[in-house]
Amino acid sequence: MECSEVNNLIMKYLDGSISEVELKLLNRHRLNCWECNEEFEMMTEIIKYINELPEISPPYDLEEKVMKRIRMKRSASSMFSMLVGVAGMFAFAYYMTIFVILPYIQDINLLQKILGYGYFALDVVGKHLMSIVVNLPIIIDNLLVLRNILIKDYMHIMLFVAAVVAVLNLGLIRIINFQQE
Ligand SMILES: [Zn+2]
Repeated sequence: MECSEVNNLIMKYLDGSISEVELKLLNRHRLNCWECNEEFEMMTEIIKYINELPEISPPYDLEEKVMKRIRMKRSASSMFSMLVGVAGMFAFAYYMTIFVILPYIQDINLLQKILGYGYFALDVVGKHLMSIVVNLPIIIDNLLVLRNILIKDYMHIMLFVAAVVAVLNLGLIRIINFQQE
């Protein structure tokens, strides 16, 4: 019997599909062939060792950890798009103030009135500061809900506003430069 055939028999032995005749052939060859015997011993040792390995199950909280990571990634990306949207709204308010509202307020008294309302509002806020502090968790809760609604339903609108503001900004700068020339 050739050594290469014995190799096949060893594989059959290891996966338990060897016949009695084949087993006899294998054992006879092993008695005469040192190399094949060595290989047989080594392979059975390895298989025995593998079978004795404790079964490794994933840590019980693996799925939870993976999900947590996914959620963190998601909230990071939605936080980013929210920041873009908020920046767009601030930019919009800023340019509205600079280019649209301020040119109409040429009357200084009107400005003082507006500032007066501002101080009045600050005064009211000061008087109700305590209740604001008490209600702050509720307010933050509602803001978080609002944030989720904004992100889910109005994010594309906010991004659109940001884009429009950017375009308007460029246009206004061109117009202003044109008028100065
Ligand atoms: Zn051999």
